[in-house]
Amino acid sequence: MAFDFDLFVIGAGSGGIATARRAAEYGAKVGIAEFDRLGGTCVNRGCVPKKLLVYASRFADHFHEATGYGWPSQDLICDWPRLIQDVNNEVERLNGIYQKMLDNSKVQVLKGLAQFLDPHTVKVGETVMTADRLLIAVGGQPVKPNIPGIEHFIVSDDLFHLPTLPQQLVILGGGYIGVEFAGVMHRLGVKVTQIIRRDKILWGFDDDIRQEIQDAMIRDGIEILTLTHPQTIEKTTDGLSLQLEREGKVETVDFPGAIGLAATGRQAKLDQLGLELAGVTVEKSAIVVNELSQTSQPHIYAVGDCTNRINLTPVAINEGRAFADTEFGGRPRLMSHENVPSAIFSTPEAATVGLTETQAIAQYGAEAIKTYKTKFRPMYYSLPNLASKTLMKLVVHQETDRVLGAHMVGDYAAEIIQGVAIAVKMGAKKADFDATVGIHPTSAEEFVTMR
Ligand code: FAD
Repeated sequence: MAFDFDLFVIGAGSGGIATARRAAEYGAKVGIAEFDRLGGTCVNRGCVPKKLLVYASRFADHFHEATGYGWPSQDLICDWPRLIQDVNNEVERLNGIYQKMLDNSKVQVLKGLAQFLDPHTVKVGETVMTADRLLIAVGGQPVKPNIPGIEHFIVSDDLFHLPTLPQQLVILGGGYIGVEFAGVMHRLGVKVTQIIRRDKILWGFDDDIRQEIQDAMIRDGIEILTLTHPQTIEKTTDGLSLQLEREGKVETVDFPGAIGLAATGRQAKLDQLGLELAGVTVEKSAIVVNELSQTSQPHIYAVGDCTNRINLTPVAINEGRAFADTEFGGRPRLMSHENVPSAIFSTPEAATVGLTETQAIAQYGAEAIKTYKTKFRPMYYSLPNLASKTLMKLVVHQETDRVLGAHMVGDYAAEIIQGVAIAVKMGAKKADFDATVGIHPTSAEEFVTMR
């Protein structure tokens, strides 16, 4: 049977665009469907606009720190409408670049919502087309908890379109998105309260990292209500009123001038896709795939957040390129999901690669694991006389001396851990770290001097 396309991709986000272009470079005839702006979550309402806001927010600290270095005191207020306009202009510029890149790669872009009609046929708007192979890269969307009044809370997508800053922000959820926006908004002058179910933010990360960031956020003036469960939410004339349950007691707390942000997780965007007509299996709200990113239909693949493996942009891109190399490039390879580094763009920043101490102990036993930790005030903070600390931690397998995990909280953690991640991925031993000469004076050199 002759198909319209060798590969048809649904979703022009991180995974979809990278895969479409790679397959087209190998000579495949590729089409891609997108109903929204090109670039997906990362470019339009995730990594990129968020990181720009993180940069913007950190000037609050830099202005203060500068007084320790001979600069006169600055009492400045951020011009939010201008900032958010500039951020959105930059996003628009990137949308245009993606369009050019797809055009240059000769990938046909179809604007509209794609829906399966059968395992080889997809409808995009009114256009029906067939494809030999298909890739589902539809990403995810925020989910809100089932609390009466939750409709008064916005989600992270909406934050990039706030016309003005609120006086207060109430954040539900202790994951990285909530933590990052807490730091951004606090630094832009908003009073922030973060409400979390657990005793600590950032569940799943190394415990020392979690504690360090939480302590720093509280020290900075962010209120974190731990072990707290909202029961009801009401909109008041000038803000929000929440009934909060903590240790069996319920109290009503008013947040005048507040808006609410539900940062309570994300789920694959599978509604309206017609997966049942394609015969693609879904479990726990995500598309089931094997290590080749192949779904229950051998010619249909899925990558990125809609498979809920590791929901990060570089992972979606790598999964997609591994598929394209294998299926269209004659270079079979698997994407490794081991030792994927990641960062939390809180302030202080954190980054991590490999196993947490808890994971290492669960895998190898407590006696098999040795941890190395250092906590210090970076030289930068000496003249401004600030208490900001950096924490670094290595998790080592004693018998083999292999570094199983590296974790850091502190300035440039993401930039530093990216380099360390190469060593960890290559199977470096603690002795290799020790044999590496440091760059002085830096914070990063502490990674090669830990005893
Ligand atoms: P997406 O990028 O979401 O792309 C999916 C695309 O498919 C979308 O454009 C959507 O409109 C389209 N689509 C969906 N259904 C259909 C359909 N039926 N027809 C046509 N088109 C469809 N990751 C990092 O690595 N670093 C970060 O710092 C980071 N920060 C983040 C901050 C926030 C606030 C959020 C929300 C996410 C962040 N992420 C970050 C995660 C990252 O954005 C995602 O992991 C990544 O975008 C996933 O790529 P994807 O290709 O799977 O999906």
